[in-house]
Amino acid sequence: MKNSSNTVIPISTIGRARPAVAVPEVAVPATGVLLDRLGRPMTDLRISVTDRCNFRCSYCMPKDVFDKDYKYLPHSALLSFEEMTRLARLFAAHGVRKIRLTGGEPLLRKNIEGLIEQLAGIRSPSGEPLALTLTTNGSLLARKAAGLRAAGLQRVTVSLDSLDDAVFRHMNDVDFPVADVLAGIDAALAAGLGPIKVNMVVKRGTNEQEILPMARYFRTHHGGKVVLRFIEYMDVGATNGWRMDEVLPSADVIARIHAEFPLVPLEAATPGETAQRWAYADGSGEIGVISSVTQAFCHDCSRARLSTEGKLYLCLFASAGHDLRPLLRGTASDDDIASAIGHIWQGRADRYSELRALRGPDNDSGDAGGKAPRRVEMSYIGG
Ligand code: SAM
Ligand code: SF4
Ligand code: SF4
Repeated sequence: MKNSSNTVIPISTIGRARPAVAVPEVAVPATGVLLDRLGRPMTDLRISVTDRCNFRCSYCMPKDVFDKDYKYLPHSALLSFEEMTRLARLFAAHGVRKIRLTGGEPLLRKNIEGLIEQLAGIRSPSGEPLALTLTTNGSLLARKAAGLRAAGLQRVTVSLDSLDDAVFRHMNDVDFPVADVLAGIDAALAAGLGPIKVNMVVKRGTNEQEILPMARYFRTHHGGKVVLRFIEYMDVGATNGWRMDEVLPSADVIARIHAEFPLVPLEAATPGETAQRWAYADGSGEIGVISSVTQAFCHDCSRARLSTEGKLYLCLFASAGHDLRPLLRGTASDDDIASAIGHIWQGRADRYSELRALRGPDNDSGDAGGKAPRRVEMSYIGG
């Protein structure tokens, strides 16, 4: 971002500096179950593989901040695929069962298929492969789907905010056509990467008119192999100018769809699931809503996040991460690093969305000038 003297400051480096991660004196061995201070197990790991993106969605990487002067992480700062895989193996030993690759746009990372091949070789302590998935804007999916599947990827989630070409081009802010993303979804299904989740961020006044067309399209196409999910516009990061009046509560989304296609609630498929599930009463599939603003789900949040440069974040709204890279690039053994990860997770008490709901959203701008420390950007930490 730019400060008042127009100096470029990489957003990823803003935030409280944490002391270097140390190997704890009392070892925390990997037992396959690791609980934080609120009793939440660590079962999901999201790995951001790049902080770069070819889109400029205004709610994530607004053009005026992420412009030609923006300083992305240098290549030397990024974890190598071997370093990511080593860490992922240690997280699996602590109980992680699902890995999601994200970014930035993960398909921009060169030879991402090579990383997927390595991650696909990891086993849980009981010998099971991990669930391996990826979130993408879909722009490169038509070209890459078959190779991703061949490398061992199981599923993809595609972000898509509108079927209307003009609205979509406006929201991605790089004039990218919606037809190419739809072709990517088709290619991913053909390659065996289904069922696919399609995520739509709903911004009141921007794309709310697209809720019903999206619901109509995905309930009739693809024979129920695509699950559409509506995400409340979140106050992540500090650059998107988030305002509560631009959030359309999930309850409104459900009411609008229910008026045209009656819905019935479904039970969560897995504990810690972010989406509330609803089925079309006529049996034509299901949808989901992710209500991080109006109905916080911190109580069973089991997600750890690893940034591209090896910082472990315990919450999407954290302002600082725990830097594991010095351990990876130093002399620490696998047991040492596993112990450090265990110690960090055991100290976790993050529950930002629940606290925001108690406090009221307008009392924390997340801005560096306000009371709260600046939150890390979603394009850096991954969604
Ligand atoms: N570039 C990929 C993509 O867009 O799918 C992966 C990274 S992106 C940061 C991950 C997810 O975060 C996307 O589904 C995106 O829509 C969502 N996202 C980004 N900013 C958001 C915001 N302010 N509120 C809600 N969701 C957001
Ligand atoms: Fe890029 Fe995804 Fe962020 Fe859009 S949401 S700018 S596609 S990282
Ligand atoms: Fe998890 Fe933080 Fe989101 Fe709560 S606010 S659900 S703790 S990532």
